[in-house]
Amino acid sequence: MKILNTLSKQKEEFIPLEPGKVSMYVCGPTVYNFIHIGNARPMVFFDTVRRYFLYRGYDVNYVSNFTDVDDKIIKRANEEGTDSAVISERYIEECKKDMVSLNVMEATTHPKATEEIGGMIEMIGTLIDKGFAYRAEDGTVYYRTRKFPYYGKLSHKNLDDLRSGGRSLLVTGEEQKEDPLDFVLWKPKKEGEPSWESPWCEGRPGWHIECSVMSRKYLGEQIDIHGGGEDLIFPHHENEIAQSEAVSGKEFARYWMHNAFLNIENHKMSKSAGNFFTVRDILAKYEGRVLRLFLLSAHYRSPLNFSDELMNAAKSSLERIINCAENLAYRKGIARAAEMTEEERTAVEEAAKYRASFEKAMDDDLNTADALAAVYDLVRYINTHTSEDSSAAFLQALEEELLSLTGILGLDLSSKKEEDSAEDTAKIEAMIAERQAARKAKDFARADAVRDELAAMGIILEDTREGVKWKRA
Ligand SMILES: [Zn+2]
Repeated sequence: MKILNTLSKQKEEFIPLEPGKVSMYVCGPTVYNFIHIGNARPMVFFDTVRRYFLYRGYDVNYVSNFTDVDDKIIKRANEEGTDSAVISERYIEECKKDMVSLNVMEATTHPKATEEIGGMIEMIGTLIDKGFAYRAEDGTVYYRTRKFPYYGKLSHKNLDDLRSGGRSLLVTGEEQKEDPLDFVLWKPKKEGEPSWESPWCEGRPGWHIECSVMSRKYLGEQIDIHGGGEDLIFPHHENEIAQSEAVSGKEFARYWMHNAFLNIENHKMSKSAGNFFTVRDILAKYEGRVLRLFLLSAHYRSPLNFSDELMNAAKSSLERIINCAENLAYRKGIARAAEMTEEERTAVEEAAKYRASFEKAMDDDLNTADALAAVYDLVRYINTHTSEDSSAAFLQALEEELLSLTGILGLDLSSKKEEDSAEDTAKIEAMIAERQAARKAKDFARADAVRDELAAMGIILEDTREGVKWKRA
């Protein structure tokens, strides 16, 4: 399996630190509002990466944080006249609801910044002890970027240009920095802000330190994969490397993966341009699985353009896949023959080539666009190779193939019907009893007619030793 590593700008063979295990850290959202669709792209993409590793038999330890102390949260809290914890708790809950809608698995750990302040104070202390950080007169603690020789290795930037540009850009209060590229680890409290005691002053952490601390605490000094949007490469991820590697003396993350931007109708999404959408806005119009399929329809390193036209195309594509799955389930329910014919056996072997192209695409830097193309090809193959005469075993084998591949992409194909009411259940069970009675009386025509009627309602019957069982297709 190959991954394009932002560090080397090369596709590298994935070799885990520990055989059979993958540790992943993905920067999560700042929770001051509903998440926007730009946040949804890394969420869905890295969830798919995780699912693919699981499919490949790895144990995946997946950590994604919630930034719950930040200027935007404090601003919102002040506007609403409430505590910032009220705002962050509210939007963590809302974010989790969106994750469910997008079928994003819950992380192994979802740490919150405010619950890790002790660890941050400890790491900042270590950085000061090692000479990688200094306290300015007002109590602010800065990271000393000149002390870290590899600063800039992830973003491949020319630091001298940044430094000369930065010198003139130093804002008031930042004259106390030794270098324009030095960044804040801890800052003094301001009126109306949440704050914690520390050896340097009462205050709160800068943003970058939380990810270094949480990653180390939950995944160890070294991790396999660190992910996020490309906007995080500089300075956020560059700063994470500087912090973590200065403390451990080891390489922080082996592979850095970054997804490209999501644009709206070919424009950058921005509130001022009036083209800003939350995931919730989109879910009012489209199902979560349509948005998920759309987000996976381009390679993660290619910019993705959001438009109603493309969302409708994603919707039709998904419908094609769902129709195929529903046909398989329906035909399986009414199949006359149980066992596969020789011809069907060959067809199942032939259909395996789609799984092979799916895996080839995913092994080549997680190319979900090509993996989806393999799914569409499989759907076409199923549609042309199955009929009412197909055996149950054949239909079952193809159904498993389809559900396995779509499952890796996190696409849920189940019909979104309401739960059966007690009344429906009673009716279905009465029909099953009628079919049983007809069979007992050797009225097979009647028994088959009832079974077909049930199949048309989407009910699948299974004859077991304990009697007849049923389920929804
Ligand atoms: Zn981060």
